[in-house]
Amino acid sequence: MSLIVVGSMAFDAIETPFGKSDKIIGGAATYIAWSASNFVKPIYQISVVGGDFPTDELNALANRGVELEGVQIKKDEKSFFWSGKYHLDMNSRDTLDTQLNVLANFQPTVPPSYQQAEFLMLGNLVPAVQLQVIKQLEKRPRLIVMDTMNFWMETAMDDLAEVLKHVDVLMVNDSEARQLSAEYSLVKAARSIMKMGPKYLVIKKGEHGALLFHDDQVFFAPALPLEDVFDPTGAGDTFAGGFIGHIAKTKDISFENMKTAIIVGSAMASFCVEKFGTTRLQEISKADIDQRIREFVQLVNFDIELG
Ligand code: AMP
Repeated sequence: MSLIVVGSMAFDAIETPFGKSDKIIGGAATYIAWSASNFVKPIYQISVVGGDFPTDELNALANRGVELEGVQIKKDEKSFFWSGKYHLDMNSRDTLDTQLNVLANFQPTVPPSYQQAEFLMLGNLVPAVQLQVIKQLEKRPRLIVMDTMNFWMETAMDDLAEVLKHVDVLMVNDSEARQLSAEYSLVKAARSIMKMGPKYLVIKKGEHGALLFHDDQVFFAPALPLEDVFDPTGAGDTFAGGFIGHIAKTKDISFENMKTAIIVGSAMASFCVEKFGTTRLQEISKADIDQRIREFVQLVNFDIELG
């Protein structure tokens, strides 16, 4: 059940209506690894950080079962930095700053020990780098899942279109799906995006849940109504980690199992938002996760009799 995770490892500075964080550890691949490692180990991580990235953070991931041979450390450079500010509803945000730093010239190398992996999670990252990883794999993984964001649609659309041709599942949020397809209706957007390459499309709608599209089928999973949402950063990546973690654990890539994976992803994301950064993800146990998945089942379980 081997899983390669690719994506940014970063410093983030976050502003929410509840407060401001200093520079904290973030990055798509960081959240994905914390989330997916609840389901599969090792996680074969591919990323790049600068000399400023804390060794303690790398050690914590290694102790968690994350293999770091594919994470380059550029001693004399700075890590990727992202800063964002959430609106009052916490469902939308503005990017205040994106400093690529080490990401600007990142040339990923897939270590020989990562070859033959069955599953590939391409977290948010430079599309050309995502493609380089796919091209370096000797055997095509059974399932390639990809996340991206508006930043890359605006700065690297040609490369992004090329990667899309190689992936099975794309995950984007609703505004990104609209931007990518130039369609307002999410049903039309899904149809148009599935012509670009991916056969499956997940559209994340923040506190309003997520949709899974495939051919003419559609499945919806709600988000758990939470009393406190402190920081939505990384929720999408944590969702992705739960989704691919469940698929890699069960080795089942059917649409039916993807529905379960969406619920697992939603459960994981619900933890992520409860505290700043990866704090909550580092605290939770299998019992916590199981309990939350039960709450999801309760949330949507009802009987109906049609007369
Ligand atoms: P999410 O909230 O799931 O969309 O992910 C937020 C994470 O994505 C943050 O921890 C950022 O460090 C990271 N991030 C933001 N912008 C980018 C980008 N352009 N490329 C890669 N990672 C990014």
